[in-house]
Parts: sequence; C-alpha cells; structure tokens
Amino acid sequence: MMEVTAVQGDITRQDVDAVVNAANNAMRGGGGVDGAIHRAGGPAILEDCVRRFPAGLATGDAGWTTAGDLPAQWVIHVVGPNRNAGETDRALLLSCYSRALAVADELGAGSVAFPLVSAGVYGWPKDDAIACALEVFRSATTSVTEARIVAFDAATYELVRAALG
Ligand code: ADP
Repeated sequence: MMEVTAVQGDITRQDVDAVVNAANNAMRGGGGVDGAIHRAGGPAILEDCVRRFPAGLATGDAGWTTAGDLPAQWVIHVVGPNRNAGETDRALLLSCYSRALAVADELGAGSVAFPLVSAGVYGWPKDDAIACALEVFRSATTSVTEARIVAFDAATYELVRAALG
C-alpha cells in the first residue's frame, strides 16, 4: 500500500529516492520547480537531459535523469499541460502522475516527492491540481511506498492537508 504524505517546503531538500520535476517539453531548464532543481542539483542534471532526451519529452510523459547533487538519487521529469497556453486536457495532468510512478517502479524508487505539476507558471487551478495527484495516487498499482506532495507555501499546504482528509 502506498502512503500519501504532505509537507510544506522546498522539493530540492527532500530526502527521498526520487524527486519529480515539473519540466517543459524541451527539458533544457526553466523557472519554478525546474529552475530550483537544476540550480540545487548542478550541471549534471542538464547534461543528462541533453544526453538522454535529445528531443525532449511529450506533455503527459515522464523520464528520469540523475539527481546530481540533490539528496535524491533520481529526478523524474514530467511535463504538465500548460493551461495558460490553452492545454486544458485533464488526462494529460493525470498521466504525469501515473507515468512518474511507472518510472519510479522501473528505477526501484520507494519514496518519491512530487510538486503540484502545472499549478505554477502553467496556471492549473490549485484545487484541481491537488485532486489530480490524489486521484492517481489512490488508484495506483505501484511498488512506491511513499508519495510525498511538497507544497511550497503555507496556503497550498493547507489545501493539500484538507484534500488528504
Ligand atoms: P508548472 O510550470 O508545471 O506550473 P511551476 O514550477 O511553475 O510548474 O509550479 C508548480 C508548483 O510548484 C507551484 O505550486 C509552485 O508554487 C511550486 N513550487 C515552486 N518552486 C518550488 C520548490 N522549490 N519546491 C516545491 N514547490 C515549488
């Protein structure tokens, strides 16, 4: 059984096997979580992105790289739908979480920290971004033992806590 937990904090500081990055299609760095992960993890992450994902990653898909200097072993990159660019297909956001868990299973990662994919620059409403994560976590068949939702600020953390019940 997978345990779903919530913490308030910075995803780059999580002591877990894998951290999920809210990347973009190009996988060559960006802002938000993506910028924080590349800054904290160092250049090895970008080098691995270039080597392993020459064509980047499709929206809704997931792929792993080294985590460089982060406490985690792997970064699992996902690309959420950009609502601000008119991508409103919820299935793509659900897919980010299910594909990330599938990649974690391939890696043998037991604990995985997730940001709220698409809920920042990409403009997905926070309450539904949380609902998407929980929908997938509660129905997933996976060997992951802990899915940790990392909320950056106190207000978002309270929303996650309330949704967890
Ligand atoms: P997207 O482009 O997919 O919307 P963002 O990185 O802009 O991704 O934001 C996703 C969520 O992660 C937002 O709720 C944002 O507040 C939060 N966030 C930003 N930086 C961090 C961080 N270092 N750790 C955890 N969450 C973060």
